[in-house]
Amino acid sequence: MKKCLLYIQCSVIVLMSCTQSRSIVDSGSIETTPHSTQPKNVILIIGDGMGLTQMTAGIYSNGNQSQYERCQYIGIHKPYSSDHLITDSAAGATAFACGQKTYNGAIAVDSDSLPLPTLLEEAEDRGLATGLIATSSIVHATPASFIAHNRHRKNYEEIAEDFLKTEIDFFVGGGKKYFDGRDKDERNLIEELRSRGYRISTYFDEELEEITLDPSERFGYLTSNKEPLPHSQGRDYLPMAVQMGLSHLSAHDGDGFFLMIEGSQIDWGGHANNASYVIDEWKELNEVVGQVLDWAEKDGETLVVITADHETGGLAIQYESKMDSIVAAFTSDYHTGAMIPVYSHGPRAEIFSGIYENTAIYDKIRKAYGWSEPSPRDTRLRQKK
Ligand SMILES: [Zn+2]
Repeated sequence: MKKCLLYIQCSVIVLMSCTQSRSIVDSGSIETTPHSTQPKNVILIIGDGMGLTQMTAGIYSNGNQSQYERCQYIGIHKPYSSDHLITDSAAGATAFACGQKTYNGAIAVDSDSLPLPTLLEEAEDRGLATGLIATSSIVHATPASFIAHNRHRKNYEEIAEDFLKTEIDFFVGGGKKYFDGRDKDERNLIEELRSRGYRISTYFDEELEEITLDPSERFGYLTSNKEPLPHSQGRDYLPMAVQMGLSHLSAHDGDGFFLMIEGSQIDWGGHANNASYVIDEWKELNEVVGQVLDWAEKDGETLVVITADHETGGLAIQYESKMDSIVAAFTSDYHTGAMIPVYSHGPRAEIFSGIYENTAIYDKIRKAYGWSEPSPRDTRLRQKK
């Protein structure tokens, strides 16, 4: 018997919102983190497919500790999409990026396939620097939903074209082929980006760590031809990309930045019903969360929000499990409908506590930045159509 599909999971999950941030630190002094002030920067970290049991399996497999425990506030979102109780990553990321529920497969378009302005575009319109980092291809559903508009997530070559319609300052992910080895046309989008002043490099040319960026240049790095390998098979660019992204975006003059980082492959481990793949990817993202929180704490003006788009695999931790050896069962090779935790840290983190729709992540990030006006891009996008 490989996987037991029939079981009853009787678990009562009580998520407590830590409504008091740690006001007394170990030394006994009062912590003075000004949670009421507005953040200059927002970093949204998405662990694709990272539900509460992925988190549990990860933490127990990691000596019962995680970087997530540094977050002062916890909320829960409802991840369903407009046409299905079980969301896919496209509708899930569109909810975060655009604040609207849409159909599964939609990339930053509404239920009528009309484009919706994204947080990244709004940030750019308001003079902020912007960035995307993923361990999938950069045109895959989650990163795509922050920068592109398409009626279907699989239109990777069209999605790649949308990178030319923004002024994104920093992006790292796989998918070189969709830029310069295209089936639908002869365009070389890498050259087109270069002619617009971008520094574009790829894993064929140089390692990320060999690159020194000029703060004034916009930068893109493509880590593989299609989808990057799993972490366990040698993909290890995420921490380096995050370090570069943070220093590059924060060096931009003035107005702050918006950065989305995706740990894409926790989801792929779930689809493969492979618990060690899930845990390995979780551990990598956990380290990146630590790296980001260290940076944000030092900076003092950065809100960090960490969540998932959905759970993948219906992962359950079985009775035979021990703290350091999790025995997992899966009920599905697809996503499930479980509600998803949201972890937040830094200025305005408190507004992420509570239970809400996945679309509220968008509203709360805008509120944290202090953006009260609707995006002017909304009407522009609609007129273009
Ligand atoms: Zn998935």
